[in-house]
Amino acid sequence: MKPVLWIVVPCYNEQEVLPVTAPLFLEELTLLAEKGKIAADSRVLFVNDGSRDRTWEIIESLSRQDDRFIGISQSRNRGHQNAVLAGLMEAKEHADITISIDCDGQDDIGAMEAMVDAWHDGCEIVYGVRSRRETDTFFKRFTAEGFYKLLGWMGAEVVYNHADYRLVSARALRAFADFREVNLFLRGMFPLVGFKSTSVYYERHERMAGQSKYPLRKMLALAFDGITSLSVKPIRLITGLGCFVAVLSFVGILWALIAAATGHTVAGWTSTTCIICFMGGIQLISLGVLGEYIGKIYMEVKARPRYIISERTYEPGGGDDPARS
Ligand code: UDP
Ligand code: MG
Repeated sequence: MKPVLWIVVPCYNEQEVLPVTAPLFLEELTLLAEKGKIAADSRVLFVNDGSRDRTWEIIESLSRQDDRFIGISQSRNRGHQNAVLAGLMEAKEHADITISIDCDGQDDIGAMEAMVDAWHDGCEIVYGVRSRRETDTFFKRFTAEGFYKLLGWMGAEVVYNHADYRLVSARALRAFADFREVNLFLRGMFPLVGFKSTSVYYERHERMAGQSKYPLRKMLALAFDGITSLSVKPIRLITGLGCFVAVLSFVGILWALIAAATGHTVAGWTSTTCIICFMGGIQLISLGVLGEYIGKIYMEVKARPRYIISERTYEPGGGDDPARS
């Protein structure tokens, strides 16, 4: 079967780079269709993320030039993750497979073929992983790689050096649609969906034109979202700290009592020290206990799916799967 592929491209103030990269996306679509790996009615879907420049006009004119270019526009700027999500949710109704990619040409468009091949081999999610980051500045590389390590340490499962260049089948997207949280960190959420997946490696290039739309402020916000969306470990750290302080306080109290007994103190010092140590320990442990419950509530209100079924040996009443047949 030749799958219908939709390439989902988020665009925010990208008037410089869009005219350069749009033809490259189309070229890849044509190439894959000619090789018989995807259907001829595949599409490139641009998601305008509330741009303030001529991005939307460019998308409209592209769509007039070629049927395979289509676009949607968010009512305002909501950020990269929301733009990708909007595009993927739109695409899942029409496509068998989707590939999300930035519009700046940094991710190697040529890697799409290997992704589609992996889908033909039965994978539902294919992660594009940067094999080298030499073209990124030292600062970007250092902060980004440190971030992946920190995430792993915090107990969040992410694919190392994978951003948002990935192939996802419509079936995996339908399961993903049940993740209803509003704080999005897509690269950490897709591994939770499961299904057979693999990685494709590529070299990251420099931006073909224009400026990065991810200043340090946005990067830090994304990093913070990533940790707090995927893990309640920071709360656990408070509990751990509470226990540690409680032990320390116990030692402190012993020390204060011994100092009082040997007569090395002024009046009132021992009782004050004991109270401070005692309260410090109790308060932090109590905060940690409260935090545990808040963490549970946090996980509950996300209402993530509790299970996702990937295979059955029988057909459940009439539900044929357009993504795989
Ligand atoms: N982007 C977006 N909304 C935003 C910021 C960025 O849709 O608020 C898009 C942007 O147009 C690009 C992708 O997200 O296609 C990645 O942004 P960028 O290349 O600037 O990030 P960097 O590669 O520098 O991390
Ligand atoms: Mg970029």
